[in-house]
Amino acid sequence: MNKYKVLIIVSFILLSFCLPKVTASIKNMNLLGRVIVLDAGHGGVDNGAQNGQIIEKKLNLILVQKLERELLARGANVYLTRSDDGDLSTTTVGRKRSDLSHRAKYINDVSPDMYLSIHLNSAPSSYWKGLQIFYTNKNEENKKIAETFTNYLKSNIANVRDIKYDSTYYMYKQITKPGILIEAGFISNPDENYLLRQEWYQDKLVKLIADSIELYYEQK
Ligand SMILES: [Zn+2]
Repeated sequence: MNKYKVLIIVSFILLSFCLPKVTASIKNMNLLGRVIVLDAGHGGVDNGAQNGQIIEKKLNLILVQKLERELLARGANVYLTRSDDGDLSTTTVGRKRSDLSHRAKYINDVSPDMYLSIHLNSAPSSYWKGLQIFYTNKNEENKKIAETFTNYLKSNIANVRDIKYDSTYYMYKQITKPGILIEAGFISNPDENYLLRQEWYQDKLVKLIADSIELYYEQK
């Protein structure tokens, strides 16, 4: 056996040791080419809901940025309505409306396959709890997306509420592309307030949401 043959055989042996490690570290690319807009609710002077250590605008952005990384790793093209602590308003009078209009316009301009708005819920009573998905009938896909996400989340985490149709949201009435609003939990509930602050729970939630997107396109 000449030295080249030995080299080739040794190379194959080495490669067979290396391959499983390499493939294990590469995520699936099931969302390759999908365009997703992530919308972290509130920002700037608008804190959103606040309870104990949680300021909604900050946690919305943390979840969105984690989700962005997860979706990029699965091959998606990801756009964010905001990537820092600022809102999208261009006026001081009617700031909230201006912010919401610009978010809707941004989403319509990107024209994604799907948009996801991330918010946190709050109620006067600490009794209320659960992640809940809201949808409008502005796009015919919205209800199916809400159902797919909710069913999948229900089978993986506790306290997921039924989907809710709501056509009154100023922002979502203006968006023509498919998408939903995810209220990731009630920060007025002590258990969920605690959970939402835990990195392992944030990571779990983000993976489940990314899985839900994949599942929706698999079943579509
Ligand atoms: Zn909110």
